[in-house]
Amino acid sequence: MGVQDLNLIKTRGVVLKTQDYKENDKLVWLFTEKLGKISLIAKGARKGKSKLMSTTLPFCYGEFVLYKGRSMYILNEGKIIESFQDLLEDFEYLIYGSYLNELVDICCEDGQKEFFIFKNLITAFYLMKNKVVDLDILARAFELKILSHTGYGINLEECCICGNKINTSNYLSMQYYGMICNNCEKRYVTQISTIAYNILKFLNKSELEKVPRIKVPQNAKKEIEQILSNIISTNYTKRPKSLDMLKHFKVE
Ligand SMILES: [Zn+2]
Repeated sequence: MGVQDLNLIKTRGVVLKTQDYKENDKLVWLFTEKLGKISLIAKGARKGKSKLMSTTLPFCYGEFVLYKGRSMYILNEGKIIESFQDLLEDFEYLIYGSYLNELVDICCEDGQKEFFIFKNLITAFYLMKNKVVDLDILARAFELKILSHTGYGINLEECCICGNKINTSNYLSMQYYGMICNNCEKRYVTQISTIAYNILKFLNKSELEKVPRIKVPQNAKKEIEQILSNIISTNYTKRPKSLDMLKHFKVE
């Protein structure tokens, strides 16, 4: 059976992670526009001469042609759109890039099309490549996008008990993932400062392209990071670990 007889699928995608397989092959976790997150085999991709080598590096954004094998997808060819390999040269960018990939890997189901998240991942990579964005804030904004599109969005606009519109509040319910107004009973709440609330609200409703516009003080950053990291580690099967590396290197 020749390749021309197979049911070829052409899709844009980003390489989330890879693993060596057999002698010369690679297992590739690809986040695709058409099929969502899938794993596939890139045969011979570790041989120097292979055309698949450069298109299957982590962060690589490309156009991939694949087909369904007996048990897995098999990569037939790939063309680089943007390799994003410069992210690998800077430790912090490498860590944050890996974190975004890890979040997609943890929060998105295999084979479930997630065009919104796909689009946001590409945008985030371009913002990083152009070095126009605070990496912490970009990570938070991306977390909010993933949360809202996988069923764990936070309601920052209305009280999650009475439904009244909220202008400002310092109480976030960790039971309903929403704010509680001044008139309602506060149970299972986390206190949140007004500045952290305002930033969270901005990030929650803005497109990623707007993230470079805001400056966030260190303590508000910490607060927001804590809140989102709690929500992420409670709701998905695994806790992302990529950012742990930074804690060893960052001097406060
Ligand atoms: Zn209320």
